[in-house]
Amino acid sequence: ALRPFFGFQKAERFGHREAAAFSDTSRFRSIRQYQMLGQSWGIENPFFKIQESRSKRSVTIDGKQLVNFGWCDYLGLSDHPEVMAAARSAIDAFGCCISASRMISGSLDMHRQLETELADFFGFENSLTFVSGHAANVSTIATLVNKGDLVIHDEFVHNSAIVGARLSGAEIKPFKHNDLESLVRLLLQNRDSFQNVLIVIEGLCSTEGDCVDLSGLIEIKEKFGCWLMIDDAHGVGVLGESGRGVAEYAGVDPRKIDIFMGTLSKSLASCGGFIAGNADLIELLKYSAPGFVYSVGLPPAVTAAALASLRILKREPERVHRLHDNSKLFFRDCRARGFDTGTSIGLGMVPVIVGSVKNTGKLLERMQEQGFNPSPIIYPGVRFNASRLRFFISSEHSVDELQSCAEALSR
Ligand code: PMP
Repeated sequence: ALRPFFGFQKAERFGHREAAAFSDTSRFRSIRQYQMLGQSWGIENPFFKIQESRSKRSVTIDGKQLVNFGWCDYLGLSDHPEVMAAARSAIDAFGCCISASRMISGSLDMHRQLETELADFFGFENSLTFVSGHAANVSTIATLVNKGDLVIHDEFVHNSAIVGARLSGAEIKPFKHNDLESLVRLLLQNRDSFQNVLIVIEGLCSTEGDCVDLSGLIEIKEKFGCWLMIDDAHGVGVLGESGRGVAEYAGVDPRKIDIFMGTLSKSLASCGGFIAGNADLIELLKYSAPGFVYSVGLPPAVTAAALASLRILKREPERVHRLHDNSKLFFRDCRARGFDTGTSIGLGMVPVIVGSVKNTGKLLERMQEQGFNPSPIIYPGVRFNASRLRFFISSEHSVDELQSCAEALSR
């Protein structure tokens, strides 16, 4: 019997109902299905493998040292002595955490420095950091648009952009990957029915490794009066001669991009995400983006590591050039051997499209047996029969490592 509380007589009459077990949810069942399929094919689950050690280019899994192609440490900064020293001295000076939202607990001078230098480097008035790139996308999109607005996104945009769009209450329409005609068709049909229209794309596409025609896209967004948001998580430190991302690569003034998003967790060898744009955009987000206002700021070590990495990137553009040389070498080798690299431009990340989940899993195991660790991606990360291995290239890979990896793929 229930203890008396407001409305308890009605509750007594309601009877009794069990909450579903988590294992009965459709998501859980689909995870189990994948795992069982893997087992029936004799493929070990490749995800969440414990890495017993990691260094600049290699990783140890199950006691075996592998050349690592599974990290987005594009510029090899994750164990750079200057980056590690900056993180250590930030801990010595300020401890391990800042404990609350910066609105509550205040900012450190290094937060301001990082945000100023990020804005400056990528060509914007100001920027704001979030605890992750995912949080930056979700919060920014959900803050900028509402019911009555429209989000039009490239079909392959990252999950965080979709989640932000859903949370915003705006209507959502995808357009075909990098297809500006498909975008224009959507705008002709819909522009006048919505107040604000936000177009969201990725700079360097994280699954395909290609880029949109940015000048063309900017002409379109200006004609139809839309905001343009670019998630350049993979383009930062990778695209352009000095690693300034997709605008530099396309030879476009970055200020034509209304909302520029990057992550601190890949080329910048730390953790967190940032949004850059004009001063009003940053003011708006600073006082109203839930993932900033109601969430903790970047810890000192993380902030200092990102700042140190950014300064190395500015000082040593030759790292970006080495990354370009390395990725082009591997990309050309893969193409020459007849692998399907899709529409990739061969900078930073090189996808090798396999097709079925089964063959992707098998190929991954063969690669690991031969001493290489690429990163598998399957549905829903990519389309159903477009499973692939992604090879994240680093400026620090040696020519021999790159060539022998392509040879191993051939075998
Ligand atoms: N956008 C893209 C395109 C990404 O690839 C990622 C991370 N894989 C994110 C956003 C999220 O960034 P973070 O890992 O910093 O949360």
